[in-house]
Amino acid sequence: MYIYEGKSVFGGIAIGKISVYKKEERQVRRVKAADTEAEITRFRLAKAEAIRQLSELYEKVLREVGEENAAIFEVHQMMLEDAGYNDSIEDMIRTQGINAECAVADTADNFVGMFMEMDDDYMRERAADVKDISKRVLTILSGDIKEAVAVKDASIIVADDLAPSETVQLDKDMVLSFVTVHGLPNSHTAILARTMAIPALVGVSLPLDGAVDGKLGIVDGTEGKLYVDPDEDTLRRMKRRKQEEAEQKELLQTLRGRENVTLDGKKVMLYANIGNLKDLAAVLQNDAGGIGLFRSEFIYLERDDYPTEEEQFQIYKQAAEAMAGKRVIIRTLDIGADKQCDYFQMEHEENPALGCRAIRICLMRPEVFKTQLRALFRASAYGKVAIMYPMITSVKEVKRIREIAASVKAELSGQGIEFGDPEQGIMIETPAAALISDELAKEADFFSIGTNDLTQYTLAVDRQNTKLDEFYDSHHPAILRMISMVVENAHRAGIWAGICGELGADQSLTREFLAMGVDELSVSPESILSIRKIVLGTNVEEYKAGRL
Ligand code: PEP
Ligand code: MG
Repeated sequence: MYIYEGKSVFGGIAIGKISVYKKEERQVRRVKAADTEAEITRFRLAKAEAIRQLSELYEKVLREVGEENAAIFEVHQMMLEDAGYNDSIEDMIRTQGINAECAVADTADNFVGMFMEMDDDYMRERAADVKDISKRVLTILSGDIKEAVAVKDASIIVADDLAPSETVQLDKDMVLSFVTVHGLPNSHTAILARTMAIPALVGVSLPLDGAVDGKLGIVDGTEGKLYVDPDEDTLRRMKRRKQEEAEQKELLQTLRGRENVTLDGKKVMLYANIGNLKDLAAVLQNDAGGIGLFRSEFIYLERDDYPTEEEQFQIYKQAAEAMAGKRVIIRTLDIGADKQCDYFQMEHEENPALGCRAIRICLMRPEVFKTQLRALFRASAYGKVAIMYPMITSVKEVKRIREIAASVKAELSGQGIEFGDPEQGIMIETPAAALISDELAKEADFFSIGTNDLTQYTLAVDRQNTKLDEFYDSHHPAILRMISMVVENAHRAGIWAGICGELGADQSLTREFLAMGVDELSVSPESILSIRKIVLGTNVEEYKAGRL
């Protein structure tokens, strides 16, 4: 058995035969053109035919998988009309006196090289599009009939990379999963895999030959792994997980796309908690309305040194773009206590949970805080990013934070750097914050209750100490009263309040939270649909009457 790892684009398990898809490379010969004007006419005719094919493809994909995936073929038509691309080809034919094929191939190479040099992922992905359109024109010029990628049995498709036109021509019933050596999580193949809801991986370094072709494979889209020739035990384990996922999927089918609204018309936002970009696949798969808690400290914990502004910006931007206009609440750095980063070189503390953690570190080290805020504000130009501050205990702190945020914004404006207008909310996870939530509500755009820490600090029970499990009672009336109070204070001030601690996913309390008027529950992606089911079956007013 061999195990290959990559980036997950969509979760789930696929088991089946691996089919390696290899593109045949077309050899383009450089030939002196006897009549350059005739070559230009050949190119223009081929281009017109390519545009016609693309418009047919657009209609086909629109019918089969919808606008999101079809749009690329409109973009391809526009790219073929691009003046720079056309002028380059026609100039080459004229000035160098060469055949149309060679001019198209050379222009494509130049454009691909130029796109690949760019820093922006989005622009780098456009290199694949230039290759794709140029290949189409070359195929037409050579008089070949374009063949669809032939897959006879249901297979796991493994390829170096797949162009959009290649993926859409695949017979969807025959594709169990996509695995590519190259490609980025926001490539069109990735978007298609998400639309088809099949597990997919990109960035997997594996040989594209007999070592994998035709072998039995298992794609674990959740863990980002491909097993080739799995052993008995792995196969049994994965089959069981596949079965469990199939049951969950059944629930998913009926509940996806439904609004989170109770029988008596009360709406609630069901968002997802994530720790890194890998989790986005599960977020989309489970139809989350947004991201309610992105624990940004994992970006710091995974590294040996401070992540740069640019590194952070790229991560936040990807999350914002993947969520396409849905709210993405990114919590600022929450290290300290159980989450330690060596390079922060924090002094030893007797009582770290009550020590230098989260927002306290940010306020004590404004340069670290500002770097993160700059990245967050910049990313807010690419989607509905919201910023959330953890471990708040006083109004003074929030005022200080907002001043720092305002100075970061002024700095970005001064430098002519683009940013949006993100909401800035706070976490309510200390009893102090809960008790002064009426005051805090005037300073924040929203509240998110961190019940994990709120329980620890209210009940004076270390959340890390397993021996104290029986005392760590997050259903304690003190906690429930505080949640209710925080929600009331939020509403009085005209802001919304949610829960992003683990208690938000406690299904025995979902109806209670609805009765309290909680506006949002942010839970692990896998819990969303089960909670939606409860919401859909609840009559809040009847429930309230029943508990009196
Ligand atoms: C919480 O305290 O409830 C919370 C969501 O934050 P974390 O678990 O990351 O401390
Ligand atoms: Mg917390």
